[in-house]
Amino acid sequence: MARPLFDRIALVGIGLIGSSLARVIRREGLAGHIAIATRSADTLRRAEELGLGDSYSTDARDAASGADLVIVSVPVGSSGAVAAEIAPALKPGAILTDVGSTKASVIAQMQPHVPAGVHFIPGHPIAGTERSGPDAGFPDLFEGRWCILTPVPGTDEAAIARLADFWQRCGSRIDTMDPAHHDMVLAIVSHLPHIIAYNIVGTADDLEAVTKSEVIKYSASGFRDFTRLAASDPTMWRDVCLHNKDAILEMLARFSEDLSSLQRAIRWGDGDKLFEMFTRTRAVRKSIIEAGQEIDAPDFGRHIAAHPEKG
Ligand code: NAP
Repeated sequence: MARPLFDRIALVGIGLIGSSLARVIRREGLAGHIAIATRSADTLRRAEELGLGDSYSTDARDAASGADLVIVSVPVGSSGAVAAEIAPALKPGAILTDVGSTKASVIAQMQPHVPAGVHFIPGHPIAGTERSGPDAGFPDLFEGRWCILTPVPGTDEAAIARLADFWQRCGSRIDTMDPAHHDMVLAIVSHLPHIIAYNIVGTADDLEAVTKSEVIKYSASGFRDFTRLAASDPTMWRDVCLHNKDAILEMLARFSEDLSSLQRAIRWGDGDKLFEMFTRTRAVRKSIIEAGQEIDAPDFGRHIAAHPEKG
């Protein structure tokens, strides 16, 4: 049998992303040993029941000790504390990476703890769902999806290539980006859509003239599509908002200006402007389908109801 890519992979955090990694690592034979760590005894027990790894601990240091690849999959606001905890256990030559949805903040939090001789390469798989926890993961999550690596200057090229190889074997395509640029791109493609969804669902929930039962009963007219995003994990999204503040505020300012312009067009009955914009936006969806990031099915959001995709 061919040697696995890594002798020992440590997964610190075993929620949606960590457990999807565990499943694809096992399926593709990418590790000789999968060491799992999570904060709570309950989550750890569930990971063990699901048979996601070869060893289990609530102490992240146990899992990271002796690992060739350590993948931190916890809410971005906790990355610094986790890095501080595992740092003394990291072996020279190991690759340390993460999957966090923001990059500049994760680098600022983790980098100071990384011992010399350890290759720290931040990453972000652009794949996910609104579910959380070890039961939510599935091995095909990363299939055909991009994984963005944001290495800091001076990172060992061979280590970057090895991590890229790992993600490719998990099914991903690789892009490399500057962390600040990543945060700006993700603010518009992921963070703003979630904030808008949280906002619209919150507004509907607060309405008094329209009852809650009406909102739910007639939701198939559009509202329902926002509720999937707005059902996403509150801890994860609180942390994303707090840790990509500048890029999100910049995108929100642009969004508010454009919304005012749309509001004006509706007020003044400017049908041409509305029609031109709605035609332009329809073409964006067509491009996403052509890029293989969505399938051309009319029931947007439900064709793969068990595993809807998002960023
Ligand atoms: P999740 O399903 O909620 O799992 C979170 C994991 O982190 C659990 O193992 C949890 O441990 C652990 N954890 C939570 N708070 C912690 C803390 N304060 N200290 C240490 N560990 C803690 O989350 P996820 O969806 O896998 O997200 C993990 C990371 O991936 C986040 O940084 C997120 O931004 C990123 N990401 C998410 C998606 C997505 O769509 N969900 C997509 C791409 C990237 P216990 O359960 O034991 O408490």
